[in-house]
Amino acid sequence: MSSTYCCEKCGTQVPELSINQEGWKAIERSLMNKSATLAVAELKHYAGCEEKDSQQFVDHLLRCSYAWPIAREDELVLSKVEKAFAGVKKPKHFTDYTHCDECLEHDQTLRNSSKETAKREEFGNAGWDPITFSTGEGLLYYFPVLARFALLPDLWVNNDWYGEQIVSHLTWDGKSNKLYKQCNSKQKEAIFMFLKHFEATRARPINNYMITEELNLAIKIWSDM
Ligand SMILES: [Zn+2]
Ligand SMILES: [Zn+2]
Repeated sequence: MSSTYCCEKCGTQVPELSINQEGWKAIERSLMNKSATLAVAELKHYAGCEEKDSQQFVDHLLRCSYAWPIAREDELVLSKVEKAFAGVKKPKHFTDYTHCDECLEHDQTLRNSSKETAKREEFGNAGWDPITFSTGEGLLYYFPVLARFALLPDLWVNNDWYGEQIVSHLTWDGKSNKLYKQCNSKQKEAIFMFLKHFEATRARPINNYMITEELNLAIKIWSDM
């Protein structure tokens, strides 16, 4: 049994493992091939830990946006985003929750979570995406964690790359975009900076997911502060 620490964001107890860069690469590769089992085996090998600890560690990697080591340049952009959105209060409701069962379910998902504890699976996929149903205020509240998920690789075993979803949330309705309408100029500037960084550093998944045109549109919308 390894000793554990408490993730200061999501509150999960995580085994304390030492993993070198090669180990991280191997885990990332396994998860990008959508194999959590292989990731657990790789981690067990690289960290020299027990299966159970490895499993627990990988479970955290697959849920929490704060579980991954983040490149310095990414962290700089994310901290600017976090700063611009720091004062945003969590809305009481996120959707038109009395409208139908789907609106109610998405509202509950977003209400029960928070921008600190949000898990990747809570933001679903393009076909089942609570954020699509959220108000502009709700998007404003969750944006920093969405940006964080978007900068993580395409490694979610049960979900697609989040980069695809965030671009769609930032372009929907063009200049009438519900988030755009909520943002002050500082927040718009932070999102524009995020998009330029995303474009410059995520060329491969942007190409794989065929979102180049949509991303160009997003940059155009958000460049106008
Ligand atoms: Zn966590
Ligand atoms: Zn509805």
